Amino acid sequence: MEFEELRRRLVEKLKREGYIVSRDVERAMLRVPRELFVPEELRHLAYEDTPLPIGYGQTISAPHMVALMTELAELKPGMNVLEVGTGSGYHAAVIAEVVAPSDAPRERWGHVYTVERIPELAERARRNLERAGYADRVTVIVGDGSKGYPPAAPYDRIIVTAAAPDVPPPLVEQLKPGGKMIIPIGDRYMQYLYVVEKREDGSIRARPVTPCLFVPLIGEYGWREEQL
Ligand code: SAM
Repeated sequence: MEFEELRRRLVEKLKREGYIVSRDVERAMLRVPRELFVPEELRHLAYEDTPLPIGYGQTISAPHMVALMTELAELKPGMNVLEVGTGSGYHAAVIAEVVAPSDAPRERWGHVYTVERIPELAERARRNLERAGYADRVTVIVGDGSKGYPPAAPYDRIIVTAAAPDVPPPLVEQLKPGGKMIIPIGDRYMQYLYVVEKREDGSIRARPVTPCLFVPLIGEYGWREEQL
């Protein structure tokens, strides 16, 4: 079966299961070719709803988790978004397709900044994003994303795709008042996905949504390598 048909079937399944609810997320997940973001030898599994290894002990998240986090973020075209944990670049492309839709005029496009700590993965993600047509809407940065990325702050939304022991204070600082962060918080083996809202007065409200399991956020405001 063609990848396009497999993608369509996966999106239908995620809609039936309640992970995809908005037209924007549906359109983005129908548009972004996940097969270009998984290792060549695993391409036949690109439309299984499962995480897959991408090397260096890291994973591309399962499609239902990408859908859920993207829905929770309530993204709108034109938004400035920070993703922490680029991995393969797939989730960044899905976010970009919502904030900077391929068929919208460029002057209305938002932008995605995505930070990855492993340089080799960042380089591969850049190539994946280029091939899939998102290089002009996504900037990949090598660094410790637990410190955020101050040069492009403040952000309307921050999406963290690695698990932290607590909400990193620099990410709260770099969020706009009225902004929202989606982040897995917990210990190494079990976390909750949180929606963290920064109110207009700067105060924070954090709401757990669902249990989840992510690879660790390793950095100054995440886990120290020697703790793992
Ligand atoms: N969003 C990714 C995708 O679509 O493929 C999946 C992300 S993977 C579950 C988590 C990523 O976070 C890994 O690539 C890992 O190297 C990265 N990571 C862990 N700690 C980090 C940090 N402090 N700063 C930036 N990236 C980090």
